[in-house]
This record gives sequence, C-alpha cells and structure tokens, in this order.
Amino acid sequence: MGTVQVGAQRVGEHAIVIGASMGGLLGARALSDAYERVTIIDRDELPAVGEGRKSVPQGRHAHVMLASGQRAIEELLPGITDELLAAGAQPGKSLREIRLVIAGHPITREAHGADVMLASRPLIEGHIRRRVLALANVTARQRCNAVDLVTSADGRRVTGVHVRDRCAGDGEAVLDADLVVAATGRGARVPALLEALGTGVPRRIGCPSTCCTPAAACACALARSATTS
Ligand SMILES: Cc1cc2nc3c(=O)[nH]c(=O)nc-3n(C[C@H](O)[C@H](O)[C@H](O)COP(=O)(O)OP(=O)(O)OC[C@H]3O[C@@H](n4cnc5c(N)ncnc54)[C@H](O)[C@@H]3O)c2cc1C
Repeated sequence: MGTVQVGAQRVGEHAIVIGASMGGLLGARALSDAYERVTIIDRDELPAVGEGRKSVPQGRHAHVMLASGQRAIEELLPGITDELLAAGAQPGKSLREIRLVIAGHPITREAHGADVMLASRPLIEGHIRRRVLALANVTARQRCNAVDLVTSADGRRVTGVHVRDRCAGDGEAVLDADLVVAATGRGARVPALLEALGTGVPRRIGCPSTCCTPAAACACALARSATTS
C-alpha cells in the first residue's frame, strides 16, 4: 500500500480502526479526512440505534457526556448535539441536577457545575455510529475479531490485521492497511501483541492506572423525569 496525495491532507490509502465503540468511531471520523478509505472492524454484531451490545456491558448504565467531550464530538460531527437532544437526551447541570456520591461522600450541590448531557449509552453510540458510517469513505465490518497484527518482514512496521470470524467467511484473513488504530478499550490485547513484536509496551498517559481498575461498583435505577407525564 502506498501513500496517496489527494489534497493537502491525504496521507495514506487505507486505515483500519479496531473497535467500533466511542473511541473507534470518533477515531475513524478523524482519519476519514486523511485516508482514502477507513475500515472499522468490531467483534460484535452492531445493533440498531438505541440497542445495547455484548462487548459494551457498561452500556446498561446511565451515561453523562461532559461539556468538553460534547464540544469535541460536535466539532467532528456538526449537529450531533441537536440530534441527540431531539432523540431524548436531557441537558443538565452536573452538580445542581445530578446527585453524586463518591466513596460515600456526597458532592456539593450548591454550585451549578458543568453543562452535561444525560442519555443512554446505546443512544449516544448509535447516533454517532450512524453519522460516522454515513461518511462515503468509512465502512464497518461486523463480527470481525482482530486476533493479531501483521508486520513487514523486518517486523518494524504494522502492515495489517489478522482477523477471524464472519468477516473472514467464518475462517481467517488478513486485512492490509497503511495505518492500524487499536480502539479496543480496557481489555485491549494490543500492548501484549506489540510486546511480542519487540516494540515494548506503549506508555500509558492520561488516566492513572488506579482510576482504571474496577474498584468501583455501579448501580442504576430508572426514574421518571419531572418534565414527562
Ligand atoms: C459502569 C460504567 C459507567 C460509565 N459511565 C460513563 C459516563 O457516564 N460517561 C462517560 O463518558 N464514560 C463513562 N464510562 C466510560 C466509558 O464507557 C468508556 O470510557 C468508553 O466506553 C471507552 O470507549 P472505547 O471506545 O475506548 O472502548 P470500549 O467502549 O470498551 O469499546 C471497545 C470496542 O472494541 C471492540 N473490540 C475489543 N477487542 C476487539 C478485537 N480483538 N477485535 C475486534 N473488536 C474488538 C469491542 O467490541 C468494543 O466495541 C463508564 C464506564 C463504566 C464501566
């Protein structure tokens, strides 16, 4: 695969994104400006808007979209905020309207807090998925399990993904790419695959490991909104 120069921004022909969840979908949207084709692969069957799926078990819990995330998503997908609000997402103030208890300590409700949007995860993900897959150069391959990375003979460059499952005719296949992005979430095997290639484990940035460990428990309950009859 070669580098294609279509306009100033095109840097390659084909990018593969592993994972069709929030990270993968938004990553694919960003890459669609720079690559001729973007293929998103996911091991799940991708459901209709509003329906949950097996690999995103946290989707059953209520989700809050913070203002900065909302702005970033709106920049990538103009109009998505209005679309979500029209579909039933609720705007709110993070402290005044949401009761937060962290490690047994109720968080103050005196301040307004930030603007947030409350919605179910399948609603948010479903609308974003619909918009991203409507882009002419982005496609998704479902029931497509990435089992390994494929490299050049000298092992210095990732050249594709070894996949298994329905997208490979229920067998195995190799999908070639100029760039592979792993957006496979917390249980990602990619660090182990890179270590096996001898590149070392990528440095973890942002969230400290302690906040990513499943030390917290979550519980949700359905409530009737004061504005609905
Ligand atoms: C209980 C709970 C509540 C949460 N509440 C909020 C909230 O209110 N607001 C908020 O912003 N965040 C919340 N989060 C965090 C949020 O859900 C995650 O940050 C987000 O889902 C991460 O997205 P992601 O795309 O990185 O990975 P994930 O959502 O984990 O998706 C990974 C994707 O990769 C696919 N995949 C994995 N391995 C492979 C493979 N080998 N081959 C092919 N596909 C593969 C999976 O099928 C999946 O689609 C919450 C999390 C939990 C657990």
